[in-house]
This record gives sequence, structure tokens and C-alpha cells, in this order.
Amino acid sequence: MPDPSASEHNARLPALIDRYAARLENRLIRAVPRELMHIPTREPIVSFTFDDVPDSALDAGAAILEGNGARGTFYISGGLEGQVEPDRRVIERAGCRELAARGHEIGCHSFAHHDLRHVGTQALIEDLARNAAYLDAVDPRVAPRNFAYPYNSGSFGKRALLARTFRTCRAGGEGINRGPVDPTFLRAVEIRQPQHHVLGLARWIDALIADPGWLIFFTHDVAPRPTPHGCTPAGFHLLVAYAVTRGCRVLTVDAALDTMGLRQMGLGEQRR
Ligand SMILES: [Zn+2]
Repeated sequence: MPDPSASEHNARLPALIDRYAARLENRLIRAVPRELMHIPTREPIVSFTFDDVPDSALDAGAAILEGNGARGTFYISGGLEGQVEPDRRVIERAGCRELAARGHEIGCHSFAHHDLRHVGTQALIEDLARNAAYLDAVDPRVAPRNFAYPYNSGSFGKRALLARTFRTCRAGGEGINRGPVDPTFLRAVEIRQPQHHVLGLARWIDALIADPGWLIFFTHDVAPRPTPHGCTPAGFHLLVAYAVTRGCRVLTVDAALDTMGLRQMGLGEQRR
């Protein structure tokens, strides 16, 4: 492995070291929250969210949620529109429009899908404006959207900008949101293969029932042969049906916030 001190810039660091740096920054953000909102613990609330978003999340994921009387949150990157990869294809505008028309929430995932740690503040402002224009064209909205970090990678220095721009920002973190929680760094649990892992994720729902709060899941594709970052329709269906059967309220991120009465006053509300 090359000596990290020889590298001139984070972006040039070997991937392993960069991932470690990302983990440290995420830990710092958790240790020093920018602000806190209080997640009530009176009832179990679950949100299913999708990042990027592959077309199978629309074809299979959205349909499974709807079949269970629920809707999801889809964090879209305009810059990934129609992108064809070896094992998945990202939806286009028509797919976004369809999701919105079917009652799902369209969230922001940045336009260029870069790790925010490697994007300058001015470049990020322009990127977010570009994605806002893209999303507004398919799902017009005045109120702030919810955001999910590309790669679940937070940026300590850009939290003020994100807090002004979005209602909440979702990261990873494998945990349930309850009690005092930083809205710029919501926790979420990843749904990914293999199948036994998806079955094991039902334990998160058990934990939520035992000690209520807000459990946010995230995944990518929902396909019979999923990528390492997705799951099968059978696995996804099992998890959604289990949440509903156990009596959880399954809500979009926006609807969950409305239900809990959090960050409802728009852009200026949480400014310091
Ligand atoms: Zn992503």
C-alpha cells in the first residue's frame, strides 16, 4: 500500500484510506451533532428508502410497498439518469414522474453523486440547485426535500448548507432514530443480500417494537439477481410485510416527519 503522506489530495488517496477517512468524518459528525430534534418513542415508525434509483426499485420495490398499503422515499441523482451499468439501469425522468404520481416521495441524492467530502462548497451549491431543477421538473415542490448522502458519506463542514437546504439528511449508521437525533445525519439500516441477511433484518423491526422510534431502511435495486447493494423482491417483500404485520406505521420520510411534527416550518426553521 502506498504511503498516504505521499498523496497530495484526498481524492487521490487509495480507496481504502479514503474509506477510513470517511468513517472518521462520519464518527466526528455523530460525536458533535449540529442540532438536535426529538424523535418521539410512542410508536414504531418505519421508512423504506431507495438511493440512486435503479429501475427495479420502481418496478418491484414500489409495487411491493403499494401492495402493503405503503409508500417509499426515492432519493434521486439527476446525473445518474438512464445510466446503464452491467447489473442495473437507473430510472429516467418518466420513472421519477411515475413514482411521484403513485404517491411516493422524491428526495434529493445530489446531481453528480460525488462524495460530499470531495466537493467544494460553491460546487455543491451549484450541484444541489441543478438537482433541484431536475426534481422540480418531475415533481414540483416548494417545501424543502429530504436528502440522502451519496455513499452515506457526511461532510462536517457542509452541514449548515445542508440544514438550510433540506428538511433532513439521511446517512447510514445501522441504528434506529429515537430521542435526540441530528436531522442532518439520520441513521439508516441497509437492506442488502445475501438473503439470510434480509431475514436477519427483521430483528431490527423486533427491536423497534420493543423500543419504539423511527427505523429507516435503505437499499438500491430490488431484483431476482441483485447487486451487492440491493435485495431480491422476495426478501424485500418479507421485510415490508413483517413491518406491517407487526403493527409498524410504514411512512415516507416526509410523512414520518409530518406525523412526528418535526421540521415543518420550512427553510428558516432550524437556522442558528
Ligand atoms: Zn447513491
